[in-house]
Parts: sequence; structure tokens; C-alpha cells
Amino acid sequence: MWFRRDLRLGDNPALLAAVDRARAGDGELVGLYVVDDDLWRRAGTNRLAYLVRSLAALDDACGGRLVLRRGDPRAVVPDVVRSVGAEEVHVAASHEPLGRRRDEAVEALLAEAGTPLVRTGSPYAVSPGRVLTGGGTPYQVFTPFRAAWYEHGWRAPAGRPREIPWATVASDDLPAAPATDARLPRAGEAAARRRWHAFCRDGLAGYGARRDRPDLEGTSSMSVHLRWGEVHPRTLLADLAAAQADGAPAQDVAAFRSELAWREFHADVLHHRPEGRSRSLRAVVPDDAWAGGAAADDAFQAWAAGRTGYPLVDAGMRQLLATGWMHNRVRMIVASFLVKDLHVPWQRGASHFMAHLVDGDVSQNQLNWQWVAGTGHDAAPYFRVFNPVTQGKKFDPEGDYVRRWVPQLRGLDGLAVHEPWRLDPPPRGYPAPMVDHAHERRVALDDFERARRRPRDGDGAGRAGVSGGRA
Ligand code: FAD
Repeated sequence: MWFRRDLRLGDNPALLAAVDRARAGDGELVGLYVVDDDLWRRAGTNRLAYLVRSLAALDDACGGRLVLRRGDPRAVVPDVVRSVGAEEVHVAASHEPLGRRRDEAVEALLAEAGTPLVRTGSPYAVSPGRVLTGGGTPYQVFTPFRAAWYEHGWRAPAGRPREIPWATVASDDLPAAPATDARLPRAGEAAARRRWHAFCRDGLAGYGARRDRPDLEGTSSMSVHLRWGEVHPRTLLADLAAAQADGAPAQDVAAFRSELAWREFHADVLHHRPEGRSRSLRAVVPDDAWAGGAAADDAFQAWAAGRTGYPLVDAGMRQLLATGWMHNRVRMIVASFLVKDLHVPWQRGASHFMAHLVDGDVSQNQLNWQWVAGTGHDAAPYFRVFNPVTQGKKFDPEGDYVRRWVPQLRGLDGLAVHEPWRLDPPPRGYPAPMVDHAHERRVALDDFERARRRPRDGDGAGRAGVSGGRA
């Protein structure tokens, strides 16, 4: 059993298939995790630190028999197969571009020795690529996708194997967790289950109304657990149905299920359009709309450090640095600010997110960025520019979220916190707004209009080294 994004023993159909196979042959099962050197070099510190903890939890659950190997999976997996004489390698299918390529390469190498790579299930309730329109084409728009996804349905959660005949095989040590200052959540299947049950008990009723409020703990915090497969979405969907049968409000259950549907939609889009990992799926502004040069670098640095002078944007960016997580509404607002106020291509913001997010996931991150930038399938229209002040007043109505993350503004009462520049004198140690939002919004809208008039203009967002634009 080659674990990748499914670091759990419960509701894991690939593991069940491997256990069945081992039992049928009166054999044993090797539970393998390959610490891929290439991914290890590129992944953000918070994600790696979390991964190490999650692997430690999985190893515990396996009675200390998890086999860790470091290296390139294309070398390591065939090597382990040879050394233990494995007859099959079981996995949950990967759908993101790099994972698919890796699996195809490993599968071809294993086939040379006559060992099949057996794929069972995926990290999604419905495997990406499976929900299609009546004409057999992928859905472009979320709402009909969600209806078809729901109609398609999913299997009941798979059970937990009662006994697993783990083999005893030498393992490398767990890699040292990279040092991080971020306060990371507890890792592992048991922690995921505890968090989920607490949410079902205390947070599900009212979720629909509270989920957009960054000042409240109104969301489930399940994204990191889903990212590493410490829980399967099918388990969550089954529990939601049971909660509704037990009297949980239907609108809250539907709101949560809809968020899971977004996760599945983005995975589906990336499955069909793997280039969406790095390239805009649609061009929305002319090439020369993008800022470049040193001024753009400075603007990006100020955004990344939470020094834009817009309190809600700065609070979000500081929450990301401090915890490796940011509330969804604030993710949308900071992303809109980077792309439409600072005119920096979405890819640069997406890379910064991937460097810090503990739930960083290529399909969810890149396609949410494309949603905000207006370049994705069924994206927010480019002319929807989030106003960080009105968004702050609406979704952080007491200003508590800003005060929590921006210490320089803690002395301000109530809504004054969203417009500190109006105070005389303005608070010390907090920057003035780096741009005039109303002006930059007009610039963004003009760019959009120019592209509509010249529809054959290219997509600057995909270019490396944007230059010559404004800053
Ligand atoms: P809840 O509100 O409790 O939602 C439940 C689950 O639904 C989440 O755990 C998540 O799996 C799913 N979900 C919720 N919102 C979304 C959404 N907008 N898109 C897709 N799935 C959603 N999510 C990631 O998992 N990884 C990322 O790298 C990521 N990057 C993002 C980047 C941007 C610019 C934006 C706007 C959103 C991004 N999201 C990402 C989506 C979303 O912000 C997080 O999933 C959510 O904040 C996680 O918190 P939660 O689990 O408490 O959410």
C-alpha cells in the first residue's frame, strides 16, 4: 500500500483492496510512504512540518510499521517492490498533473517486472473526470456541475480494516520537521475526526450564516485534513446526511455540501485542463495591464508582508504568516487586491500562498486564484473588484478580526479599524494605503474594457517576467 494523499486507515478503499489481496494470498502488507525529494525541496515549510506530524500519526496507527523511504518514487517504489517481492502495488488514484505523471511513470516501470499498480478510489467523493454533461463534455459552470455531481452520488464510506497483516520492513527515519513559527493544527486521522465531530456538534447549525465571518470561528478547519487525506470527503458527506436526519438545519448542511462540491469542481477542472496549474484558462486583460519591474516587486512584498495600509488585507496576510491558514473570504479579498489593485499576475500570489498554506493544494489554490482573477471556468467576472473597506465593514462588523492580526490597530474601536487613515492623527506604526482603491479599480475596469474591444490580445498572466507595465 503506497500512501500519498490518503494518510488514514479508515474509509480508505485502496487500503481495503490491499488488505484483501494480502489476506487472499496469505501474505503480508507493506505500508509505504515515499518522501519525494523533489516535492520536499519545493513544498512550503508549514506543509512539510504538518506532513511530518501526520506521518508520525499514521505510523502510530500502523503500530510503528509504516515504511518511509526517501528519494524519487520512480526509483524507490520499484526498489521496495523488488526487495519485498510485492505482487501488487495499491494506491488511491492521483488526479493533479504532477501526481498523474509520476504514477504513469511508476506504473510503466512496475509493468516491466510484471507488477500491476492498482488504483482504487481517489481523494474525492466522485473521481474527477467522471461527472460529464449529457453531451459527454466536462462542465464549465459550477451550479450545473454541482447538480450533476449530487445526482451522480457517491458510495457509502468504506470500513476500517479490522486487522492489517503489516510486514516488518526496515524504514528510514521520519525526516526532521522543518522549523516554522506558524501555529499549526493537530495532525493525523484521529485529530481530524475529533475536529470534525466537534464541528458537527457545535458549528454545523448556523454554518451558512457564519461561514463568511473571519472574526468568528464559523468554519470547520477541515481543509488541511482533506488536503492530506486524513479524512475522506465521503465520510463528511455521510455524516452530514446523518446530521440532517437527526435535525441539523437543511440549509446549513446544503451550504457545507456545496463547499465540498467546489472542491470537487476545481479538481474536475484541473483534471480536464492541467495547464490551469500555471496558465490562465481565459484571457481577460491585455498583456500590458500587468505591473512589472522593481515597483511591482515592492508592491508584491508589501502585500505579502501585510503592509498595504488596507487593514482587512493586512490582517489576512498576517494570519497566513502566523498560522499557515487564512479565512476563505479574506483569501478572496487579498487575492483580488493583488490582481486588481496592484495589477500583479495571479500566479505570483498563488505561489506565495503555496509557500505558506498548510492546506495548500494545487487544484484548490490555483483555481480559486483563477476564480478571483476572472480567468478560470465559472470565475468571478473580472469587473467584480472586492472593496477591502466595505468587505471589512460587512464581514468583520466589529473589527475584531483586524484587531486580532494587526497589533498597530488594536487601540481603535469598532469600525474605525477599517479606515484608520480617516483618524487625526492616524495610528502610529501602521502604513497609509499604498494605492487608492477607487483609482485602481477604474484602471482594472479600463483594462478589462480594452481587452473586450481587442479580444485577440494575449494573456499576460501566463508570461514570465512581466515588464514595462505600471506599478
Ligand atoms: P469550510 O468553510 O469549513 O469548508 C469546508 C470544506 O469545503 C473546506 O475544508 C474545503 O475543503 C471546501 N471548501 C470551502 N471553500 C472552498 C473553496 N472556495 N474552494 C474549494 N473548496 C472549498 N482550499 C484548499 O483546501 N487549499 C488551498 O490551497 C486553497 N487555496 C485557496 C486560495 C484562494 C485565493 C481562495 C479564495 C480559496 C482557497 N481555498 C483553498 C479554498 C478555501 O479558502 C479553503 O478551503 C477554506 O478556507 C478552508 O477552511 P475550512 O476548512 O474551515 O472551510
